[in-house]
Amino acid sequence: MRQPLVAGNWKMNGSRASIESLLNGIKQGLGDVNNAEIAVCAPYVYLADVEDQLQGTPVAWGAQNLSEIASGAFTGEISASMLNDFHCKYAIVGHSERRSLYGEDDALVAAKYEVARAAGMKPILCVGETLDEREAGITMEVVNRQLDAVIEKSGIESLADGVIAYEPVWAIGTGKTATPEMAQEVHAAIRSKLAENNAEVAAKVQILYGGSMNAANAAELLAMEDIDGGLIGGASLKSEDFLTIARAAG
Ligand code: PEP
Repeated sequence: MRQPLVAGNWKMNGSRASIESLLNGIKQGLGDVNNAEIAVCAPYVYLADVEDQLQGTPVAWGAQNLSEIASGAFTGEISASMLNDFHCKYAIVGHSERRSLYGEDDALVAAKYEVARAAGMKPILCVGETLDEREAGITMEVVNRQLDAVIEKSGIESLADGVIAYEPVWAIGTGKTATPEMAQEVHAAIRSKLAENNAEVAAKVQILYGGSMNAANAAELLAMEDIDGGLIGGASLKSEDFLTIARAAG
């Protein structure tokens, strides 16, 4: 059985004060969450505060990005070993905003996946198609290409160390959610692609859905067989909404 995971991606939102109150709200409401693991992916500068507030609780934390390089003259970058200093369990790699706004290509995302994994973190690998790509009927071509970059670099077994997040780009931050059937179709196709090479990995890997998941639509998405949780942007900034999603996950 795959444990559901509900991970918040705070993006570039929050302040020390707002994060403290958000985490207090999450901690207070945890009692009703049964089976799902909860994680928050915070802006780098707040990781120390997040660690202080979450250590000893069941809530995990992580980063939203990391450098593919170990150390050196790379102004503004943050390495995997730095994230280890703050005991990050997760690191998001290949979020569509990194791909589209910061030019991260499949090879760079695969390099980031590998450094996060090698450092003992669980990379959350984001994949997903744009609206044009969906309308052109090439959703799985895009998703497979994004997955293959990681498989070619790190091997199919490496996916057992991470988490996949299917995030249709057209659904992120837009309020447009994939229907449960649309999402399930892609999740099942990802799992069967992996099963062609390694049935054990395919059965084990958590595949999260991301894209305008919220307190109102989470239950029907999370009820689908191959949807193992959510990567949540906007709705992760309100503790009640985030907890409602986590409760719906199990
Ligand atoms: C995301 O940023 O990964 C995301 C899914 O955002 P939202 O939930 O706001 O669409």
